[in-house]
Amino acid sequence: MKVPYIDLAAEYREQEERIDAAVKAVLASGNYVLGENVAAFEEEFGSWLGGAAVAAVNSGTDAIYLVLKAMGIGPGDEVVTVSHTAVNTVLAVSKVGATPVLVDIEPETFCLDPGLLAGSLTVRTRAIIPVHLYGHPVDMDPVLEAAAERGIPVIEDCAQAHGALYRGRMVGTIGAAACFSFYPTKNLGAAGDAGAVASSDQGLVAKVRSLANCGQGEERYHNVYRGEVSRLDELQAAILRVKLEALDDATGRRRAAAALYRELLAGLDIALPLEREWARHVYHLFVARTRDRDGLLEHLRRAGVGAMVHYPVPVHRQPAYADSFDMALPETDRAVGEIISLPAYPGITPAQQEYVAGQIAAFLRGQAPAGS
Ligand SMILES: *Cc1c(COP(=O)(O)O)cnc(C)c1O
Repeated sequence: MKVPYIDLAAEYREQEERIDAAVKAVLASGNYVLGENVAAFEEEFGSWLGGAAVAAVNSGTDAIYLVLKAMGIGPGDEVVTVSHTAVNTVLAVSKVGATPVLVDIEPETFCLDPGLLAGSLTVRTRAIIPVHLYGHPVDMDPVLEAAAERGIPVIEDCAQAHGALYRGRMVGTIGAAACFSFYPTKNLGAAGDAGAVASSDQGLVAKVRSLANCGQGEERYHNVYRGEVSRLDELQAAILRVKLEALDDATGRRRAAAALYRELLAGLDIALPLEREWARHVYHLFVARTRDRDGLLEHLRRAGVGAMVHYPVPVHRQPAYADSFDMALPETDRAVGEIISLPAYPGITPAQQEYVAGQIAAFLRGQAPAGS
């Protein structure tokens, strides 16, 4: 048996007719940039979040970059986030010229440890970016409290957490602004790069929308900011509108796959992802933790299972950031050697999961891989 890490083509086939119709309608309309699909997607995604204003942009990275820029954050400012994330979170901070300050994670959820936040805040801190990593929400109340004390905004990185709940609240509606990615592999994925900024602050969202469109104001060819070109295009917006309708169902299937892994792997010497009692995890990734991670990874690969590591090198150890950080991040350094992401996409079958679990059990019992 082969179990791919993810199967985006199969996901497309489930909605092939509706996606094809949406794409054809855009092509036939002759309107490819900033048309009705982008406006409708912004409206629909905002309603799905429970009533936020939304600016669609061309990636999750640009969503973070543009919101920082809209807030006037730049050189000399510090922005606090984590090292254990997709490098994009930190790249966006670097792109506005601000200084990223990295805090360690809680080993149980792999998310920012709010208990360590105080030690990372200085008079120069201008924002905190908690990352709801793997689909599990950050413990937001202490983060909001620390930010409020200093009068600085919290910008949620929701790139992996569409639909996750923190104490019953949708992530993306808790901080001053939230950034989403619709990269193809994300829980809501386009057929290319896409992202969005959401906020209850209409003015902030309007500024992001303007910055993403050359800095143009209300009137065409009248520029109020030195912006860039970071628009979402109509084709991607049309596809996202179709996929948004299926998002809650897909999240339910991710959660069902996670529940099945918990049954199948119960009692084995491998730590399964924790879901805090106040959290609704959306399992963008199903990340387990085990001592001989590299051994298990190799065993699964030889058995035809597409397991992965998210992420093998934390930001503070990336060559691109050599000599940039001197903070000690022991939990981050320990986690990266032990984490393994198991295939848990919405279309995975119970038979595939049984096979994966059987291979993990065989490895933990010290057997050679079968079916290679
Ligand atoms: C994917 C991702 C991003 C960036 O999104 P892109 O759309 O790929 O630019 C930012 N933060 C996190 C945590 C991500 O997983």
